[in-house]
Amino acid sequence: MRLLEYEGKELLKELGIKIPHGAVATTSKEAELIRSKIGTSVVLKAQIPTGGRGKAGGIIPVDNKSDIKRATSCLLGKMIKGYQVDKVLIEEKLPISQELYLGFIVDTAAGKIKFIFSKYGGVNIEEIAENKPSALHSEEINSLRGFTEYEARNLIKESGFHGSLLVKLAKIAITLYRCFKTQEMVMAEINPLVINKDGNPVAADVLMEIDDNALFRSKTFDKDALRERIIDELEREAYDLGVNSFVKLEGEIGIVASGAGLGMTTMDILQRTGFQAANFLETGGRITKKLVQGSINIVRRHKNVKGIIVNLYGGINPMVDAAKGVVNAVGDGKERIPIVIKLLGNKQEEAWKILEAADLTVVKSVHTERAVKKLKEMLR
Ligand code: GDP
Ligand code: MN
Repeated sequence: MRLLEYEGKELLKELGIKIPHGAVATTSKEAELIRSKIGTSVVLKAQIPTGGRGKAGGIIPVDNKSDIKRATSCLLGKMIKGYQVDKVLIEEKLPISQELYLGFIVDTAAGKIKFIFSKYGGVNIEEIAENKPSALHSEEINSLRGFTEYEARNLIKESGFHGSLLVKLAKIAITLYRCFKTQEMVMAEINPLVINKDGNPVAADVLMEIDDNALFRSKTFDKDALRERIIDELEREAYDLGVNSFVKLEGEIGIVASGAGLGMTTMDILQRTGFQAANFLETGGRITKKLVQGSINIVRRHKNVKGIIVNLYGGINPMVDAAKGVVNAVGDGKERIPIVIKLLGNKQEEAWKILEAADLTVVKSVHTERAVKKLKEMLR
C-alpha cells in the first residue's frame, strides 16, 4: 500500500528527519486557516498515493494570500492520475537551490534492498535514471549485516558531499532504512531532499509503499486504507470479494486459480500455447461457493475475455462448493463464454458430477496443458 505524502512525513518527523511545516486540509476554509499560521508563501500538494504529481498539476505554489482558496478548490475533488483528491497538504514554501534523491527499494530481481542516492533529484529523476545512469549511485544492502553509517557515507560521498553535510545525509539514510525495515516497506524515497538556508537537509517530498502482505502486522496503518487506493474497478471488486490476489492484465483468457503457483503455471502454459492471460486471480485457501462464483464473474467482465480457465486444487478447499460456484456463475452469464474447468482433490468425483450435470467442460487430468488445449479447441 502506498502511503500518502503526509502519512510518510509523519513517520519521518517521529524519527527526527526534518520536514517542512504544514498540515492537511479537506476544505478551502481549513486551507486558509493553515496558511495563516504558516505565512504568505505556501505550496499546495494533492494527497494521492502516487508520485509525478508535479507534472500532473497536483502541486500548486501559492505566493499570494488571496489565492489560497481558489488554488485549494482547484485541487479538491479533482481527478489526478486516476485518483480523486480529497485532501491537500499545505506547506511552507521552501527556497530550493538543489534537489537530492535518497531512497530504498526492494529490487525483486536481485532479491535485495537497494540504496539509491543522487544529487540530481526532483521531478525528472526517471529521465536521469534512463539517460544519465552514472548520476545515480546505488548499492545493494547485505540484509544479514544490515546497513551501516559508513556504507551510507561512502556512497553519498561519490556524489561529492563531504564534511558535516555528508554526516547529516548519511544519518538520514540510516534512519530511513530503519523505518523501511520496521514498517516492512518495499519502497521509500525522499525526492526532493533539499538543503535549507542553515545547511540542514529537509524532506520536501516522500513516497513510501508498505508490502501489502505485511499490512496485517502494521501497528501504524489500517488494511482498510488499501481499498481506497485501488484505482481499477475490477481490482477493487476482487479485493471486496476476498480473493487472495487479482491483477488485471492485457490478454484474452481469464484465469481463476486456487493457488498462486497454479495460477502462474496456467499463465505460462497459456503463453506457450499462443494465448495471453487477461488476469491473474488466486482465490486462496478459503474457497466458498460465493467466492468462486464471484471470481468468475469478475474475470468475465474484463472486456478482452474470450475464454476462461478455472484451475482448482482442493486440499483443504471444498471442491464440491467450488463446483457449485462455477455452475452458478455460468448461470449468471448473459452470453456464454467458453469455459474449461480443471478441478482435482477434495471429493473430486462428486464435484465433477455437479459440473457435468450442468453440461460444463471438465478436465480431470493433473496436466493444465490439457485444459488449455481443450479451451483452444473450443475457441476455434
Ligand atoms: P511529485 O511530483 O509528486 O514528486 O511532488 P513533489 O512534492 O516532489 O513536488 C514536485 C516538485 O515541485 C519538486 O521537485 C519541486 O521542484 C517543487 N516543489 C515542491 N515543494 C516545493 C517547495 O516547497 N518549494 C519550491 N520552490 N518548490 C517545491
Ligand atoms: Mn517528489
